[in-house]
Amino acid sequence: MRVLIVGAGPTGLVLAHALLKAGVENLVILERRQTVVEASGAGIGLWPHTVRVLDQLGDGILESAQEMVPRMKRNARLGSEGNLILSTDMYEQIEENHGHPFMLFERMRFIELLYTHLPRASDLVLTGKSVASLSQTDKLVSVTCDDGSEYTGDILIGADGVHSITRSLLFGGLEDRRAKLADGFSASFRCIFGCGPLLPGLVPGEMVERSKGPISFQMLISDDTVMWFFYQRLEKMTTNKTYYSDAEMEELADTFKDFEVVEDRSICFGDLWQTKRRARLADLEEGLISQWSKGRVALVGDATHKMLPNLALGGNCAIESAVSLVNRLHNLIQTSPTPSTQELESVFIAYQQERESRARLFTRLSGLMLRHWWLLAKFLGFVGRFTSLENDRTVTDKVLTRISKPGLVLDFVPETQPKTGKVPWDISIVGLSTG
Ligand SMILES: Cc1cc2nc3c(=O)[nH]c(=O)nc-3n(C[C@H](O)[C@H](O)[C@H](O)COP(=O)(O)OP(=O)(O)OC[C@H]3O[C@@H](n4cnc5c(N)ncnc54)[C@H](O)[C@@H]3O)c2cc1C
Repeated sequence: MRVLIVGAGPTGLVLAHALLKAGVENLVILERRQTVVEASGAGIGLWPHTVRVLDQLGDGILESAQEMVPRMKRNARLGSEGNLILSTDMYEQIEENHGHPFMLFERMRFIELLYTHLPRASDLVLTGKSVASLSQTDKLVSVTCDDGSEYTGDILIGADGVHSITRSLLFGGLEDRRAKLADGFSASFRCIFGCGPLLPGLVPGEMVERSKGPISFQMLISDDTVMWFFYQRLEKMTTNKTYYSDAEMEELADTFKDFEVVEDRSICFGDLWQTKRRARLADLEEGLISQWSKGRVALVGDATHKMLPNLALGGNCAIESAVSLVNRLHNLIQTSPTPSTQELESVFIAYQQERESRARLFTRLSGLMLRHWWLLAKFLGFVGRFTSLENDRTVTDKVLTRISKPGLVLDFVPETQPKTGKVPWDISIVGLSTG
């Protein structure tokens, strides 16, 4: 069976790893960019259930990741005036609960990790291949790229992100792709995100958050890099695509320059801005599309579900969707090595059914939190006057465990570093005898 994947982002690369584990050797990833590892984006955080999957992908990925990431420890929340209202060892609590830690990566380093550990990476991932058209029959699916090259496979997986061309080619919308978001997606926030070097006074392993009215700020600090996100609510929700110029980004950043980002008020956003390595201003899409597959083609990751990044869930959710799809394909090819279109359609529908409700939950949870962070800050500030919230575990134990505890893993690949914490996984460790 030959599988074509469109896009070498986190989803496409995890799909490739997992398909190789499933015995699908004949695969190709078509990537629009000229290089897979590009200096772009800010950070990406992996929740413990996704770390389980990294372990399963093997080829030394987890070991390399463990050497790369900082030991995350504390979450500090500042009130609207910049005063400290909450400080918890949230990341330590997460690790106690699940065994594996929350891992923070600079995004390009995460892509590099997945790419450099992919067997036969330079043969499997073809760069400079921008998919432009798609056709399928009852037996095969073909795509043509901008450079005129053509690729044919038994299955095609569109892992080409929130503005997926595969989705437009399947369901229409090619004409107004530059102007409109896909049906199901909208944007209510925009965000300046970026990264830069560690400044004196920033503590590695900390996340600092601060909300002030419609503005929210997050900063995650690794051993040598600070990754930051400045969210601003749009005046009106939009379903149009907005393109911002560098001048608009500079202008917006300038309005936030005196926004204090540490509890002793010694560092302002302007300091992060002046020392940044890179930054980008973009609208943040939210939503789910209604149909995730058609015939021999399935969509995975941001192409199907897109959430705000404030809870660090989008990439985790995308990887979990990749896991769900590969589990089902692996199961199918045990009995049907060259599956019919009908068999594939059943698998794709079951995959959507398995993933849709959790993706919707994460999308809503992220949206709810960002919209009401200022209210939460007020509430915590009020409660904190009467009782100490220092190292309170309520949020980690009652809310955050719901993120990782039910997380899917590959059901056919043993875990090499199995870990369990205070909260048992819903899916038991794979590869260990339960007897
Ligand atoms: C500021 C910010 C911070 C975030 N932080 C986190 C976090 O901490 N944790 C987390 O889990 N998630 C986070 N996310 C979300 C996460 O980045 C996405 O969910 C994730 O990147 C989705 O991966 P993907 O592979 O589906 O899509 P993408 O990362 O968008 O990758 C799609 C790939 O497809 C390629 N492509 C596109 N069109 C074509 C074409 N026509 N032909 C060939 N290739 C094509 C693109 O070049 C790209 O390489 C964050 C998002 C943002 C915006």
